[in-house]
Amino acid sequence: MLSKVKLYWESFLHLFFPELCAACMREIPVSGDVLCVYCNHDLPLCGFPSLTDNLVHWRLAGRALPIWASSYMFFKEGNVTQALLHQLKYRGKQYIGEEFGRRHGEYILSQLPAEWRPDYIIPVPLHPKRLHERGFNQSTCYARGLSEAMRVKVREDILVRRKYTETQTRKSKQDRIKNVSDAFQLRDAEGLTGKTILIVDDVFTSGATLEACILPFHGLEEVKVSIATLAIADDW
Ligand SMILES: [Zn+2]
Repeated sequence: MLSKVKLYWESFLHLFFPELCAACMREIPVSGDVLCVYCNHDLPLCGFPSLTDNLVHWRLAGRALPIWASSYMFFKEGNVTQALLHQLKYRGKQYIGEEFGRRHGEYILSQLPAEWRPDYIIPVPLHPKRLHERGFNQSTCYARGLSEAMRVKVREDILVRRKYTETQTRKSKQDRIKNVSDAFQLRDAEGLTGKTILIVDDVFTSGATLEACILPFHGLEEVKVSIATLAIADDW
């Protein structure tokens, strides 16, 4: 009975406040989904069959080798992923990061051996000035979704961004790497011995940012690093 009332109430609300697809803004029927059927169908999922033999791992080869790495969807100019990331990052739709973090977390769990299970999830930090400008960290939204699905705690007190870097999008590959190489620092590494951490970011392009995040952990004993990103640019 209660669910019927809820359904009527939701349908009534929907008349005045229709739900819109998070990617294309089409109206969607009462479904509780964030995407319309078209965008759900077009979602370019990576579906990497392995956590160790995939595009993310290959791109970090010879630089920083995480024990495992995963990415949820391919990013390309004009695709659904680009629209979703734009809404998340520049329109403040934090629920997009959370929703796809949950979806990715479930996918990772279906592949993850127990011994590689992370103890903490660490979102790539923003510089405090950038955080103030944007009001939130998009990687933290994604981390919250992963955390919910994987039941792993998010820690934002371990790694800090000490360098305010200009936006990376218009820089060349070499400049991006130089720009970010010494941007991160450990703030609190207490109690990390023997732990596995999962560093997470919204998009993987050259891998320069994630490599710079992994480096401070290399000096620590017995800390294993793994990587997850919401998207990966497939034509980088
Ligand atoms: Zn749509």
